[in-house]
Amino acid sequence: MFHVKHFDVIVIGGGHAGTEAASAAARAGASVALVTQKLATIGMMSCNPAIGGLGKGHLVREIDALDGIMGRAADAAGIQFRLLNLRKGPAVQGPRAQADRALYRTFVQAELSAQQNLSLIEGEVVDLIADDSRIGGVILADGQSVSARAVVLTAGTFLNGLIHIGDQRQAGGRMGDAPSTRLGDRLNDLDLKRGRLKTGTPPRLDGRTINWSILDEQKGDDEPSMFSFLNRKPVARQVSCGVTRTNERTHDIIRANLSRSAMYGGHIDGVGPRYCPSIEDKVVRFSDKDSHQVFLEPEGLTDHTVYPNGISSSLPIEVQNAYVSSIVGLENATILQPAYAIEYDFFDPRALSAGLGVLNLEGLFFAGQINGTTGYEEAAAQGLAAGLNAGHLAMDKEPVQFHRSGSYIGVLLDDLRSRGVTEPYRMFTSRAEYRLSLRADNADQRLTEQGISLGIVSEARKSSFYKKLNNLNDLKGRLEKRTFTPRDLLEGGVHVSSDGSRRSGLDVLGAFAMTSDQQDRLLPELLNADPDIRTQILRDAMYGRYLDRQQAQIDQLKREELTAIPADFSYAGLSGLSGELLSKLQRQRPASLAVAAQIEGMTPAALALILANVRRSA
Ligand code: FAD
Repeated sequence: MFHVKHFDVIVIGGGHAGTEAASAAARAGASVALVTQKLATIGMMSCNPAIGGLGKGHLVREIDALDGIMGRAADAAGIQFRLLNLRKGPAVQGPRAQADRALYRTFVQAELSAQQNLSLIEGEVVDLIADDSRIGGVILADGQSVSARAVVLTAGTFLNGLIHIGDQRQAGGRMGDAPSTRLGDRLNDLDLKRGRLKTGTPPRLDGRTINWSILDEQKGDDEPSMFSFLNRKPVARQVSCGVTRTNERTHDIIRANLSRSAMYGGHIDGVGPRYCPSIEDKVVRFSDKDSHQVFLEPEGLTDHTVYPNGISSSLPIEVQNAYVSSIVGLENATILQPAYAIEYDFFDPRALSAGLGVLNLEGLFFAGQINGTTGYEEAAAQGLAAGLNAGHLAMDKEPVQFHRSGSYIGVLLDDLRSRGVTEPYRMFTSRAEYRLSLRADNADQRLTEQGISLGIVSEARKSSFYKKLNNLNDLKGRLEKRTFTPRDLLEGGVHVSSDGSRRSGLDVLGAFAMTSDQQDRLLPELLNADPDIRTQILRDAMYGRYLDRQQAQIDQLKREELTAIPADFSYAGLSGLSGELLSKLQRQRPASLAVAAQIEGMTPAALALILANVRRSA
């Protein structure tokens, strides 16, 4: 063993958690080494070529507000942008972009290469240097030792990773990459509770063999929503996706071969992600459906590979060929890489501190998929938090906290720590009780100042943020000064009861649905406002009036948490409860509202529903 160098922080793994962790710790001023098996795979998307979505898009905006990498990388690589839930309110809308895999990787690698205080080391970490209570560094497979005051482990799906295709299995961290077995074994010494999870990916298709001409086309939004607060429009050429569907014949093929699927043939012990079910899962669980949608997503502008979103599988390759060719438009499609499932180790995140530090070994932090989450965004958000905290620990600074009331990052960390996971955890807007205030559009207003005070935000972002904030505050101030009587409003065409009180311009914007023309007539201050500032003011005003109600509901749930739930309480009749929560509640039968609140996936809305019905039945 020979010693190479000392750093404040070592980050193990160059996936989505590791890259954000390394960047955040280095931006915070720590000297950092990112050690990963292959430098060329830094920033690689293991599964779908897309970033964002419902709940996940919020996380990306928050990462961006703190000057992390993911939002800017997704903007640079985005080849189709869509705002999901467009017809619903902004609080639950989710920006999503399909990304060119190569452009994404290139952006992340360039960011890290340019980052001060950060060294990139290619190698496999096989051992940890630690005494009984503190971490001291890592040992690489070639015998080098690297010392550090803090180590962030972000090994993703690689710890004892096992790839399954039908009854074939091979060790691997993902297709084409070796697993991390020696480190996986070494972690046994830490006396941490660990479990096994699984996930799957669809076959990749050769786009040149798809009959696009007969398929429906899905275009991106006419006005793309960018992830980064610094960006206005996409840089890469924009493309459409194809849309097709499975059919009865596809389902017959799958049903006839279920026993050959790794998932259903009893070869996999791990628990899979409920929200990204395999096609076998869908055919069995939703047996009443005779068809499922499949989105054909190009993986890049100069790449013929197509990702058929919706048909992940662990069936043998010949069955994959048969079911793929049964789908309209894919009759002659060639499979470039088979679908597969992967099983891997994760650690119970209840053994972590609020900053993702392992409680019984000071200086060791865990982030990403190894904490039982699934998804690039969840991994990146944890990486940011763990990297910052590791950097602060190494530099003898205070821990950095994220609260559930202030960010989805806070919701994620708190859920993991307090509830643990029984299945791969993914973010949803319903997990956030403060979701009306935790919107994707105001992530910068919520977090960028914290980032500035931590010293992790670039000068360019700082000045653009303060410029925006000044414009917002200036316009808000002017709108607040202008006041209206009910008569003024009636004359302006706004229907309002004539005995109402005097209102400020900001209140008027929040309280009444008005056309843009009406707004301009009543509030000429809006006429010359920057369109983005105007949109933001309208959203802040609209949500302002709901926030008191949101707080009242949260306070009420806190006050009532000791309310007993009768043992024979019937959950079946509660409309608005998801099937998932219904089955958990029926199985676990929590004795009180406080116990119900601890159930994984429980939402404030569901608790309020239970409370109202417990009261009614009392
Ligand atoms: P990863 O992106 O896996 O990165 C881990 C990194 O650690 C890699 O760079 C690896 O080389 C490095 N590493 C590991 N061990 C060592 C070591 N000992 N020394 C040095 N470097 C090491 N997510 C979804 O949301 N939906 C899905 O449907 C989905 N399906 C998936 C299917 C498959 C087959 C796979 C593999 C992943 C899937 N994912 C899915 C998960 C998604 O890829 C992860 O959530 C995300 O990549 C996790 O990021 P991470 O940073 O935690 O780990």
